[in-house]
Amino acid sequence: TALLEARGLRVEYGATVALDAIDLALAAGSRTAVMGPSGSGKSSLVHALAGIVPLSAGEVWLEGGRLDTLSEARRSRARLARMGMVFQFGDLVPELTLVENVMLPLQVLGTRAATARRRAVEVLEQVGVAEVADRRIGAVSGGQAQRAAVARALAHRPAIVLADEPTGALDTVSSEQVMDALTRLSVDQGTALVVVTHDHRVAAHLDDVVVVRDGRISVGIPA
Ligand code: ADP
Ligand code: ADP
Repeated sequence: TALLEARGLRVEYGATVALDAIDLALAAGSRTAVMGPSGSGKSSLVHALAGIVPLSAGEVWLEGGRLDTLSEARRSRARLARMGMVFQFGDLVPELTLVENVMLPLQVLGTRAATARRRAVEVLEQVGVAEVADRRIGAVSGGQAQRAAVARALAHRPAIVLADEPTGALDTVSSEQVMDALTRLSVDQGTALVVVTHDHRVAAHLDDVVVVRDGRISVGIPA
């Protein structure tokens, strides 16, 4: 069975149909780029797969269980425990250090502070920002902050990481560093990866491409 699966997914915002009739199955350890024009529904797809936006129709299955029908509390818990999220920018706490940002979700999941700190330092080393680990997010470069976001998304060894334009605000060099970090950690941990991107150089780091157009999948994953 698929790790994460969408069946007949439909998402509406008022009168706007953002997604319709989406079927998608992502295998454990798979690495998928989601591409397509601006406004085509890519963010909505990632947010629907994460159980963040309500569905107008369809189902989302995570590891063989329905995600979309869980209570809000159970859905949040499943997302926190089994998924990692990376956004374009701004979802780290700027006043906290890189280490503290990476520790937060671990501690929410019940890891003791000392253990969480050790793990945070380890993952920050793996993404190549150990030397700035004790600086505040607000005091490091955008590329370093995004590598911290990658570390935070993977520190609890989730089954899948969903990244929405993770390099959208970065220059080419930083973008490559972020994608190297993201794919290397995912491969090491056997984590599946979904990356929304406009950039073919980013997609080149991944194995499959799904193209979304006008709320539908126009190019899917070959069976
Ligand atoms: P993409 O990520 O490909 O740019 P989105 O999923 O962000 O596409 O948006 C898909 C469509 O849904 C667009 O027409 C967008 O304007 C609309 N949309 C997205 N979020 C909202 C929202 N919160 N309220 C209303 N319309 C939205
Ligand atoms: P992206 O294309 O990177 O997903 P957007 O700029 O489309 O980012 O969307 C940024 C935020 O604005 C998202 O939270 C999205 O849900 C919301 N949004 C997008 N389109 C609309 C819209 N037409 N009406 C209201 N909110 C929207």
